Amino acid sequence: MIIRPLPLPDELDRGFLGRVIRLNGFRDEKECVAELSAWTGLCDRYERAVPGVMLLSRVAGMDTESFTVRHTTLPFRRGITSYMPTLMHGCESSATILRNSAMRLARPGAYFCRKCAEADHDFHGMTYWRRAHQIPGALWCSNHATPLSYVEDERAFLEPPAASFDECFTVDHALAEATAENLAVRRYLEICADLLERPAPLDVKDVARVLAGQARLRGLQTWPGKTAAPLLSDKVVDEFDAKWLAIVLPDLAAKAKGQILSRLDGVLYLSKSASSTVAYVLAASVLYDSPDEALKELQSAAPHVPSSVGRQASRRPHDDDLYAAYVATAGGHAAVAKLLGANYGAVSPRLDAMGLPKLLSFGKGGVRVALRAFLLEGRSVRESAEIGEVSVLELESSIRTACKHFVEALELIDSQTKPATRPFVKTRQAAPHEVSGVAADRPCGRGVHLGKRRRKTEAPRSHGVVA
Ligand SMILES: [Zn+2]
Repeated sequence: MIIRPLPLPDELDRGFLGRVIRLNGFRDEKECVAELSAWTGLCDRYERAVPGVMLLSRVAGMDTESFTVRHTTLPFRRGITSYMPTLMHGCESSATILRNSAMRLARPGAYFCRKCAEADHDFHGMTYWRRAHQIPGALWCSNHATPLSYVEDERAFLEPPAASFDECFTVDHALAEATAENLAVRRYLEICADLLERPAPLDVKDVARVLAGQARLRGLQTWPGKTAAPLLSDKVVDEFDAKWLAIVLPDLAAKAKGQILSRLDGVLYLSKSASSTVAYVLAASVLYDSPDEALKELQSAAPHVPSSVGRQASRRPHDDDLYAAYVATAGGHAAVAKLLGANYGAVSPRLDAMGLPKLLSFGKGGVRVALRAFLLEGRSVRESAEIGEVSVLELESSIRTACKHFVEALELIDSQTKPATRPFVKTRQAAPHEVSGVAADRPCGRGVHLGKRRRKTEAPRSHGVVA
């Protein structure tokens, strides 16, 4: 008998493996693989090890493609590739990729956000490793406006993050905050987050063509050889934080101005992968003014590749789960969608309708800071906007969202209130039926808006099954 936990939203494959080992009392990873191989009956015709991701997907009750896209960092690492670009992530037809690459890490070390872990403990009853925190360059949790913590020994993934609380590094607060406020870094991380959700990679040759076209518009050099125009690599150095670049792509931080760095400049003209996905995302982050624009252009180059938006799970969480997740993630709509494994496009409007606005935060400011000043400290709208470093319009929009239920009540009151008698009665123009004397249909009355009815409470979700 194998005890089969359900994977949590965005849970990293290795963290899930750790839970499987602990729940079943296996001595180590080796024994776990042997037991799961026997249980699944999966075998390789050349007697090689069965890819771990296939074993874990069977434990999770998912197909290998779905498990790979939701729980490994492969969709990011292989997000832009020239090697078998038409192969969906996690496709079992390529056991080589699954065996050698599916469960590799995207960067050294094991990263976590202490506050996310605490929220997970309250919401799920346990702490777990999130793959979004393992992306190169992710130093800051935008949901909690706090630096990430990490341990260098990757065996930590086999234990819950809480086991590393007392012996971990925490990213320098000033560095994390500086990078959180850097617009290029924010674009980079948003593009990475999108790649992480895609079921298939983008082809390097499509991406190179699109990036080169945009680089030409910006007057950058798009060919190898003698430097005759501003270089993409220099633009990246100019726009990103130097310390952050030294962590993400050390070669770039160390290069001289005007010197071509093929690993980065090559993304514009090499038809085979010039470098890792990181280099392509860095390039897209400086060539476009917004991550949405960059993603739209990259998607337009590969229309045959399904985008993340069309693929995401369409599961509909209960209102109570949405509310709990909203509190647990400190008001991040995208974070709520991730936490519940649901589609952002479906979740965000529902949170708005529930009067729960997006509490975007950056550095020491953000909508949450502004709303707190307005609602809890009694400051004026203008003062609160200044404190939160957001525009008055942005704050007013959030207040209107937060007042959704009151707005419904107000509309109901208005619809029931008789118009007041006007002090001066003016002669008005007659309606056509009043002049012609011809009988006309009675005008339709305006219905009373009754508002939305609450859904019945759903049964609590199961957290695990036993095979
Ligand atoms: Zn966090």
